[in-house]
Amino acid sequence: MRAATLGELRRSGGGRAAGVRDEMRRNLVAKLRAKERLFPGVLGYDDSVLPQLVNAVLSRHHMILLGLRGQAKSRLIRSLTTLLDPGVPAVLGCEIHDDPFAPICQRCRDVVKHSGDDTPLRWLAPEERYVEKLATPDVTIADMIGDIDPIRAARGGHDLSSELTMHYGLLPRAHRGIFGLNELPDLAGRIQVGLFNILQEGDVQIKGYPVRLPIDVAMVFTANPEDYTARGKIITPLKDRIGSEIRTHYPESLEQGVAITQQEAWTARSPELRVPGYIREVVEGIAFAARRDKKVDKRSGVSQRLPISALENAVSNAERRALLRGEGLVVPRIADVYAALPALTGKFELEYEGEMLGGEKVARDLIRAAVGEAYSMHLGSADLKPVIGFFETGGSLKLDDDAASSQVVAQLKRVPHLFEHLGALGVAAGDPEPVLASAAEFVLEGLHARKLIGRSDDRGFVAPEPTPESDLDIERLERLRRLKKQVN
Ligand SMILES: [Zn+2]
Repeated sequence: MRAATLGELRRSGGGRAAGVRDEMRRNLVAKLRAKERLFPGVLGYDDSVLPQLVNAVLSRHHMILLGLRGQAKSRLIRSLTTLLDPGVPAVLGCEIHDDPFAPICQRCRDVVKHSGDDTPLRWLAPEERYVEKLATPDVTIADMIGDIDPIRAARGGHDLSSELTMHYGLLPRAHRGIFGLNELPDLAGRIQVGLFNILQEGDVQIKGYPVRLPIDVAMVFTANPEDYTARGKIITPLKDRIGSEIRTHYPESLEQGVAITQQEAWTARSPELRVPGYIREVVEGIAFAARRDKKVDKRSGVSQRLPISALENAVSNAERRALLRGEGLVVPRIADVYAALPALTGKFELEYEGEMLGGEKVARDLIRAAVGEAYSMHLGSADLKPVIGFFETGGSLKLDDDAASSQVVAQLKRVPHLFEHLGALGVAAGDPEPVLASAAEFVLEGLHARKLIGRSDDRGFVAPEPTPESDLDIERLERLRRLKKQVN
């Protein structure tokens, strides 16, 4: 039973709580000794980010996570709450979670003085001790630190300068907890000065009040690395006070990316959904291709939310088709990944070259590149000459994106020897039609991505194209460049 009053707490051996950063350190040490898995749900950071994060907590540092968008920075900060005690006592009704043994607000000091051991308590769960804020240029001192509440003053009949009329900002509300502040460089200089005071003096002074509140908080910031290092964006004394700078990154291998996307994407919506491995690899490959593509802006990065939304959207397109055709089993095809364009185009910023081509064209090229790579992984060494031969001798195949699986399989079976290669994808001849349709279509998409067969708008898959599309793109770009020069 948890103590309900200050007296009960005292009799059970309770006393003044240690600082929040000491508490985090103590729990981390215990987890490390017990060889417990730290920060469950954070994937791909075991050898890079997590050791640094552990060191920062052991050092009792305030810290900043530097990384591009979609690198799980917010998730990392939130996961720090796993280092907080499962329950800590606070004075019941206190807005800033006062420690009953060391209340810092006027109200609680009064309550403890008058009620003594009868002071009622409330136990705080770790999530209640986490405050998060996205920094923007219009965040004010009042938002962050606090302000006079004239209504409260009038209602309570207090003098405006009484501490009891204070409306607490986010920082006091994070007292005894973790304060996550995203995009620190977007915060106005004078607010940064306020933060510096917290880190320097460990307290906060509310404007117009003669009181100082000795706030106990673990500060965790995030920032885009370029913004953070740019001159004049962060006041130097604040930078000096942030003990650890930790760099985050995108998944280092396709496998890691697939695992993260699998964890995050909402695909567990129907028991009859089967997402083939090659579809997951293609979706992930789009993000990898975008991150290295010169047409995509490196500074803003390509968020992990790109493959997550793309997979969700591709699954939805397959679900829609299955519903239309009355099929029970939902299996996404590459055509469904192309149908996920709306989930892709808004997820990256384009450089000049990319803008000339347009987001949709860039996204299509990225999908095609990802298909080509997934194809090479599974079928790179397979001999598909007989399949290619079918198209070279005039064969063509137009697949309707919304066609029933049985119809697609019947069409694809016209291509000699095609189905013999599905074993490389882990698909057997007796598998259900939606599985077969997806796998056989993937083989043709792969051949197309590798420029071994072509595709025309009206007839679908056809003989190889005489001029590779990428050369055409370069020609087109050159033309546009010349045009632009003439205009200027
Ligand atoms: Zn209080």
